[in-house]
Amino acid sequence: MKSYPARIKRLARAFNSLTDRLAACTRCGTCLAACPLFTETGREADVSRGKLALLDGLNRLAFDNPDGVNRRLRRCLLCGSCERNCPGGVRILEILFTARLLINDVAGLSAAEKLLLRRILTQPELLDRLMYWGGRLQNRLTQPVAAQQPMVRLKWGPGFLKNRHWPKIESKPLPIDSMNAAAGSVSGRPLQRVGFFVGCLIPKLYPRVAHAVVKALAHHRIETVWPRRQICCGIPALAVGDRTAFQRLIQLNLNAFAAMDVTHIVTACATCTATIKTVWPAMASALPPAAKTQIAHWAERTMDINQYLVKQADFTMGSTPGTTPCDVAYHDPCHLKNSLGITAEPRALLQANPGYRLIEPADADRCCGAGGSFHYTHSDLSRRIGRHKHKSISASGCRVVATGCPGCMLQLNEMLSEAGDRIQVKHSIEIYAEFLNANSSDT
Ligand code: SF4
Ligand code: SF4
Repeated sequence: MKSYPARIKRLARAFNSLTDRLAACTRCGTCLAACPLFTETGREADVSRGKLALLDGLNRLAFDNPDGVNRRLRRCLLCGSCERNCPGGVRILEILFTARLLINDVAGLSAAEKLLLRRILTQPELLDRLMYWGGRLQNRLTQPVAAQQPMVRLKWGPGFLKNRHWPKIESKPLPIDSMNAAAGSVSGRPLQRVGFFVGCLIPKLYPRVAHAVVKALAHHRIETVWPRRQICCGIPALAVGDRTAFQRLIQLNLNAFAAMDVTHIVTACATCTATIKTVWPAMASALPPAAKTQIAHWAERTMDINQYLVKQADFTMGSTPGTTPCDVAYHDPCHLKNSLGITAEPRALLQANPGYRLIEPADADRCCGAGGSFHYTHSDLSRRIGRHKHKSISASGCRVVATGCPGCMLQLNEMLSEAGDRIQVKHSIEIYAEFLNANSSDT
């Protein structure tokens, strides 16, 4: 009989906690057609059925290479499409997240991952400083590549970096203090006060989205409050299995939220919304009871900005497109559709602007291939999936593609820019704010 080293046995014991959840998979194979990665590669190990079988094997000491299992686990967009389509209701994402944590408890993280997650991501001031210098250096190191978006590429460097197109980094932090005033201060008594969880990507890559959120909220007499010490929602740390950084990021955010007197937290990032609402509660079992209570409190009160405006504000549904509307295609972010079931509200915001006509591209809810850090760690696969998305958007004949997640915007921008396509990428809240700007007396 094979002799396993102690750390593998320790890992297998830890995996016992997943036995029941793994057994819920009947191996029916429904997830195969839903998985954007399996559709691309045809590899069983890339889809949840194969991944769950791998984990079951690790649990039963049928594998002696946790690093290999870890590598295969990380070949996943965490898009949740398999879970949404699973007839057995298997909690696939929860299993995959837990498995990544357990494996990294034993296998450990690389020095680069520890530096990025524990030293930089958990310190917003340091991240801001790095972005400031990155923003200043980008003018020397990059050149513009697309006329319609501020996209750039490196002037020098190895091909795998030089050939990529990036949105320009905004070097200055968001001018939080002046944004409410610029949006038009809430006239009269505000109907509600909400906290704005802005996330990591919006301030650095798409600050215009934050301005649109504040503008739209002010229009509906909603006062925006900024949790000053808010920080990354933690999903990048959880995705690589860094329990320490993930729990630290949750706790720092809870501290930041604690001082706020608001009815809701809104976000314009599908991934942040899904993380706070579904991932925090699911992965909070090891946190102290007080933290769990706070997580439950905020999970219930956190809303996607599209959903918040349609459900909680005096939003008016529908309008007839003008005589020469601009065709806008909508792309469903996985973390809005698969994780939260939000599909109608972003479309309602787009349809509120008569300057646009909503069209549906083929496979509007197909993953764009971004997958958070997957976009960089598995860039070939990410781009192969992204090219399908680009084709369907381009074939729709739209002039603008809208979505509800800055991660998707980044991927769509890159795919369109690399193809030399002039279709613009916008967040749905931007299109709604354009309409408010055109008709508003409070600007
Ligand atoms: S759809 Fe669900 S039950 Fe079927 S193989 Fe996939 S994970 Fe297992
Ligand atoms: S989360 Fe997405 S990429 Fe990962 S196995 Fe499920 S469907 Fe495939």
